[in-house]
Amino acid sequence: MSDRPKRGFTIVLTADRSLMAGYRVLFEGMMLCSGTTAISPSIARAMLAPPVRSESLRAIQAPMGLRRVEAALAAGGFDPAEVAVVAPENLSAAIGPDTRIVGVSSGDPLGLGMNSTTMAGLMGGEPYTSAWFRALIGTLSGLKEAGGFKFEAVLGGPGAWQVVPESNGAASPIRGIDRAIVGYCEDRICGLFRDIVRGIRGGFAVACEGPAADAIPPARGATTMGIVETSRGCGLGCGFCAVGRAPMLHVPRATILADVGVNVGAGVRNISLAGEDLFRYGSRGAADVRPAEVLGLLRGMRGVPGVRLIQADHANVSSISRFSTDELREVRRLLAGDTGCGFVWLNVGVETAAGELLEAAGGGPKMRPFGAFEWADAARAQVVRLIEAGFFPLVSLVVGLPGEEEGHVRRTIEWVEGLRRHRLAVFPMFRAPIRAGDRGFSAGDMTERHRELFAKCYEINFRWIPQLAADNQAAAGVGRLRRAMLQAAGRFGMLRWRRILRRLAGGTGP
Ligand code: SF4
Repeated sequence: MSDRPKRGFTIVLTADRSLMAGYRVLFEGMMLCSGTTAISPSIARAMLAPPVRSESLRAIQAPMGLRRVEAALAAGGFDPAEVAVVAPENLSAAIGPDTRIVGVSSGDPLGLGMNSTTMAGLMGGEPYTSAWFRALIGTLSGLKEAGGFKFEAVLGGPGAWQVVPESNGAASPIRGIDRAIVGYCEDRICGLFRDIVRGIRGGFAVACEGPAADAIPPARGATTMGIVETSRGCGLGCGFCAVGRAPMLHVPRATILADVGVNVGAGVRNISLAGEDLFRYGSRGAADVRPAEVLGLLRGMRGVPGVRLIQADHANVSSISRFSTDELREVRRLLAGDTGCGFVWLNVGVETAAGELLEAAGGGPKMRPFGAFEWADAARAQVVRLIEAGFFPLVSLVVGLPGEEEGHVRRTIEWVEGLRRHRLAVFPMFRAPIRAGDRGFSAGDMTERHRELFAKCYEINFRWIPQLAADNQAAAGVGRLRRAMLQAAGRFGMLRWRRILRRLAGGTGP
């Protein structure tokens, strides 16, 4: 029997479609969140972001943040039958006159992130992250106005800070959002939601610190892309990074394994690890790595019956340097399992070859044990070690760091050229605003050197990214037809990118 109430769930938790879609591998989600409406929405929906599957209106997969809130509410005494995690496509059916709260998660509601500003600046169009967030808020506003429903819309998630007027410089909160929770909130969400249900008014922005690691509640349902958190925050303090100041907190191994088990139990066998530095899992400080903790975690995950591909996202140059080559190889082996995955990628933030520029931007702790003037060589050596251990590094660079001069960009171009025969990809991104009063780098700020840097990086990327996408999908069990469709769409996208790069090289764009 369906547990759907007749007049809507009391609490509905949802997310915009860029966060809550049926991505099969982590790379698909990254591609969509880097995309703009210059790519047709029908292609984006069909190829990358089909709707998540649902049962009795409840989404089978949802962003990890929503799963944590759902678990915290259940642990805090809310009746699970009255709380539903719902795909954005099903909101009209799930919300009714009895709905008191709609909790919305968004990663980038105003399109201010590094990826989105870079891609929108170069490709044109609006980032899907903000376009689909706006569509979701439009749906909620329509339900309130046409349906006369009285729920409060509460925004959370990694991008919630963007809608707080002190952060975005706006005079008032954006329409359609009644409250914004900034930060992890599992320890406060029950109190906040009880106040809302009782009609107690509060301020617009609620800043939360989050619970201690051992109080993070295990998820009660599967997550988008099989995401499980390994760590929160980073704490290395880079001045251009939104998580720079938040100290790194490691999710206990038992919680991670429980989250993996819940995913596999729901049929989500490809797991994605979310954290700012896989190699620092279990560490006790910035300069500490504990390979035994990382390997123990991965072995534990491999021990969960049914796990297929394990994907990781970020790793730091300095942490890589503290792992032996054998340890790196073992990490790679455990991530790929027996999937035959040939592109086990890791996002490595090199940012710039100019170490003194990175140091001035607060990147000193990130570079240690290397000094600013060793950074370019050290970063190259560690990227090569990673490649030799069987990984595929996705190197990220930041353009427009404060004080950046032509010579800095030129050195980064040389750094990229020195690696172009290797098996890797390099993604330059515009520095994005992370707090009130920040002005990020924009396409209009690009110099000839920046354009050259982008062109050089994308020539490398064109060689490998289609292969990476096909490989990861095959390893994750994606069918041939969907793989072929994405390859066809990818080739079309590449033609478009080549045109953009030609325009850039000619100094006529973007
Ligand atoms: S090391 Fe990476 S995640 Fe950490 S603060 Fe610097 S840029 Fe951010």
